[in-house]
Order: sequence, then structure tokens, then C-alpha cells
Amino acid sequence: MGSRGIQIVGMDVKELVLILNKALSDEWLAHYQYWVGSKVVAGPMKDAVIAELVQHATEEMAHAELLTTRIIQLGGTPVLTPAKWFDLTNCAYDAPADPFVQVVLEQNIKGEQCAISVYDKLMKLTKDADPVTYNIALQIIEQEVEHEEDLQSLLEDLNLMLQRYGGKK
Ligand code: MG
Ligand code: FE
Ligand code: FE
Repeated sequence: MGSRGIQIVGMDVKELVLILNKALSDEWLAHYQYWVGSKVVAGPMKDAVIAELVQHATEEMAHAELLTTRIIQLGGTPVLTPAKWFDLTNCAYDAPADPFVQVVLEQNIKGEQCAISVYDKLMKLTKDADPVTYNIALQIIEQEVEHEEDLQSLLEDLNLMLQRYGGKK
């Protein structure tokens, strides 16, 4: 922790650390949801979907890294046990119990939309109070916006194909 770096934060640092730990819990759950989803997903366009899920799994871990660096800079402790992720999470966890591509994509789109809302809120909260955290939230939200679009465009293509060839819409 850096003492002057903490002094310049214009908001309750404990509260900020809690918000960052909540986002950190979301990122780990998102990482696992993508990672295990990439292992079980089945159906048309599976290869393209797997490639995107694997990439997003890696990127969610990079978000966890950014959040943890900031938590430690602020003198906080990153959430130390996975059981706590479920107490702290904003966006929860959707188990890919139904491995059909369409269902997995829809679950992850829902997760991305929740993540976008979380970082939008964090940016509004820190814009003037803590530009360092604001910048981290900005970096992360840029990627969450990209994730949402990646998955929605895959789902669009999949739905076009299912419409054309019949079957479950
Ligand atoms: Mg992507
Ligand atoms: Fe993320
Ligand atoms: Fe994401």
C-alpha cells in the first residue's frame, strides 16, 4: 500500500475496497463459467463458440488481476476464499447445466450485461473521487462491452441458421 496514493482518494476507502472485492468475485465466477462452459458446450458452431469462451475466460482473469492490484494499493485484502465469492458477487453464477450452444451463449450474455452495469456504476462513483480506479474500470468495461457484442453476434448467426434449417429457436 502507498500512503499518499491512499490519501488522495476522495471517498471511503473501505467501501471502495468492498466494491472492488465484489467485482473481483464476479470476475472469478465469470472466469469459471466461461472456462467450464468451453469444455461442455455442444451444438452447431461449437468451434467458434469455444474459441470465444476460452478467450473470454482468459480476459476475465486479467480483470481479476487489475482489481487485485488496486485492492492491494488501497491497503485492502483481496477476497481470500472461493466460498466468499458467492457472498460478494453482484452477477452470480449460471452453471452450464444445459450445454446447448444457444443456452450457454444466453447465460454468458446475461453475465456480460450484469458486468457492464457493475463497471458503469463503479465509473460513476469514482470519476472524480478516484481517477486511478476509474481508469481500471474503464479498461475493464471496454472489454465487457466487446464480450457482450462477441456473444450476441454469435447468437445472431446461430439463430439465423436455426431459423433457416428449422429446429429450436
Ligand atoms: Mg472476444
Ligand atoms: Fe470481466
Ligand atoms: Fe466479460
